[in-house]
Amino acid sequence: MTRCRYCAGIKACKVCGQPISDFIHVGVRGAGTNSSGIWHYAVPCGHKQVVQVEAGAVQVVYNGGPLWNTRYRWLDVFWGDYWQKQNLPFNMDQIDKVVMDIETNASYSGGLKQYAATGGDMGISSLMGSKVVPTNPPQVVDDSQIQKQLETWIDGGVLPDLGMKGAYNIFLGPGVSVTLQGDSSCATFCDFHNFTGKHAYTVEPYPCSSGCNQCTANPFDTLTQGLSEEMTELKTDFVPGTGWLIGQLELCDFCDQQFQCRQIDTGEYVNAWYDRSKGSCWKPG
Ligand SMILES: [Zn+2]
Ligand SMILES: [Zn+2]
Repeated sequence: MTRCRYCAGIKACKVCGQPISDFIHVGVRGAGTNSSGIWHYAVPCGHKQVVQVEAGAVQVVYNGGPLWNTRYRWLDVFWGDYWQKQNLPFNMDQIDKVVMDIETNASYSGGLKQYAATGGDMGISSLMGSKVVPTNPPQVVDDSQIQKQLETWIDGGVLPDLGMKGAYNIFLGPGVSVTLQGDSSCATFCDFHNFTGKHAYTVEPYPCSSGCNQCTANPFDTLTQGLSEEMTELKTDFVPGTGWLIGQLELCDFCDQQFQCRQIDTGEYVNAWYDRSKGSCWKPG
């Protein structure tokens, strides 16, 4: 991905005035009052640019990029020795169960069938497994470092190579701050999904204490909401900005604007996605 139609005409950074050679697109769930959507970072200066989208009726547009398929699989990656500790508020097994519960939910994930590629299918997939990488990440880790690390793990056989037929959920422990250029987790964003050029992944920083959960005060619920959104948006917009979008909003970003608390029948809180067939945001049943 280089330029999309919203950033195609932007030649100079609106913050620093430097010429822009390219854009980095990331699918981000904003924290607090920061809106969710495809966030645009200018190359080389790194400043986030606000792009203008057309006003008017809700239009769900497929931009031609790769999409998820039911044969694809998830791999959970727990980065840091935190995850090997005993008696955690929530542990790897509980998170793996959430991934399976979300992914096998006939209504929540099964309903995404309407967004399948022509001749392909999308809906219920599976969790391949999970892997703990006990080497600790830096206390502040940028998405560019996460991408390099993910590719290094795959090249070195630490993680299986899913190619374009699956994706990695990367979970971080408390005390690790994730950055996207000048933006930091919990300060401006909750979580995101992105693409290394070879592999798709979600990043779940440890649940933020505020700004990322309008339903409960429970960190585990914060995590399940973010995870459900990033998994859904990765499936429907595998390379951020190239899949299914409503303006510059991915399918859950749109529903985050008029947020409603929702739970799947196994109990986890999830963020709703826009159901094109019903013209409304997903709800159970
Ligand atoms: Zn763009
Ligand atoms: Zn700039």
